[in-house]
Amino acid sequence: MTGGSGGSPPRDGAVSVLLDGCHIVTMDGDRAEHSSGHIAIEGNKITSVGAGPAPAHLDLAGARIVDAAGCLATPGLVNTHHHLYQWATRGMAVDSTLFGWLTELYPVWARIDEQVVADSATAALAWLAGTGCTTTTDHHYVFPRGGGDVLGATVAAARSVGLRFHPTRGSMDLGASSGGLPPDEVVEDVDTILTATSGAISAFHDPAPGSMLRIGIAPCSPFSVTGELMRGAAALARDQRVRLHTHLAETLDEDEFCAQRFGCTPVEYLDSLGWLADDVWLAHGVHLDDAAIARLAATGTGVAHCPSSNARLGAGICRTADLLAAGVPVGLGVDGAASNEESSLVGEVRQAVLMARAAGGPAELSVRRSLELGTLGGARLLGRADEIGSLEVGKLADVALWRLDGLPHAGITDPVAALVLGSRPPLELLLVNGAVVVERDVVQTVDEGAVAAAAASAAAALR
Ligand SMILES: [Zn+2]
Repeated sequence: MTGGSGGSPPRDGAVSVLLDGCHIVTMDGDRAEHSSGHIAIEGNKITSVGAGPAPAHLDLAGARIVDAAGCLATPGLVNTHHHLYQWATRGMAVDSTLFGWLTELYPVWARIDEQVVADSATAALAWLAGTGCTTTTDHHYVFPRGGGDVLGATVAAARSVGLRFHPTRGSMDLGASSGGLPPDEVVEDVDTILTATSGAISAFHDPAPGSMLRIGIAPCSPFSVTGELMRGAAALARDQRVRLHTHLAETLDEDEFCAQRFGCTPVEYLDSLGWLADDVWLAHGVHLDDAAIARLAATGTGVAHCPSSNARLGAGICRTADLLAAGVPVGLGVDGAASNEESSLVGEVRQAVLMARAAGGPAELSVRRSLELGTLGGARLLGRADEIGSLEVGKLADVALWRLDGLPHAGITDPVAALVLGSRPPLELLLVNGAVVVERDVVQTVDEGAVAAAAASAAAALR
């Protein structure tokens, strides 16, 4: 889709797409911005970015030239925490705490199957693309017996929508009869989990540069997983050189669970399992004391901050400024759609600013720093900061182009403030790996109407 006028593949050295005349936030090492600049793309890589028009030596003969005046180009946003299947269970347990919400939803999730997950994931991914996301993770941890290949369904959905995908093979093995929160019907045993996880890595993981899919390993949470599974998962991840992910320090209920069952805090518990390291990122990290933050910083353990979900469940407010001041890697996540019905990634950039400032004052988080968390910060959590998260020569062509000259934003002096503090702007163009995924606010890779109808059927099937 990015080739010249005839749709033929780009010639070597020839520009395939040129964005011309936009404000550019590069997120490069100097955090350079250009008020009217260009971005040239050849195939799946950025080959020129800077102020003013494209240099004369570039071969533009077969290029698609986009007049981007009135637009803001940012690195494609990176979503570091999601549960795609939850798209089918939005709007339930709307006034509950996390534990109350989970208790109501586990039995519903026990009925998901490959088709429900395929339809939910396609809808969630298409929507996410429309909110500026070019790379997303997924944390899938419910594998009903007889439900088919639900992880494979998410992989197929990501391929059809065209997003760069970092799914994790999640898991739960601590059922209610053993003192966990989930009912026994939704947990698996450790051997089954580790065998399936190993199989998922063999089937899907692509470690090569420019990869569109890398697998991670993600036991669910301290109250749904045994220490034996956590240790086994860590050993497998390090043997296979893939990353580790889990939920941690989300609520005070979890604090109490860890105090009673393990006699320590959630971070101390993870530390005892060999789970604090720079190949690990944790969803939420809301309830962290100073010692915990220092330990995350010392080990390079990352945090996926999910402000809307935390607010929706009344879980608390992440100490974002303190994490950043300590040097903890921080990215942003929408979390599952069942605890964030909006599921807008650019919305999380805004929400992160607002919640940090509501808690700690206006200096807590700047609009640019929050956009950095949503781009470069996320790339770092996924081990991809050398390839995505900024607009620089040699990086992969994952670009969001936001239109800022319409009614909601025209006249806002600072385009970054317009994007972060204003309403969600129209997405003029979204490129993933150099290919068009969204154009003029419409997803190009799938039929949005058909996807919506299928998602509604999936939700109805679960009810
Ligand atoms: Zn989650």
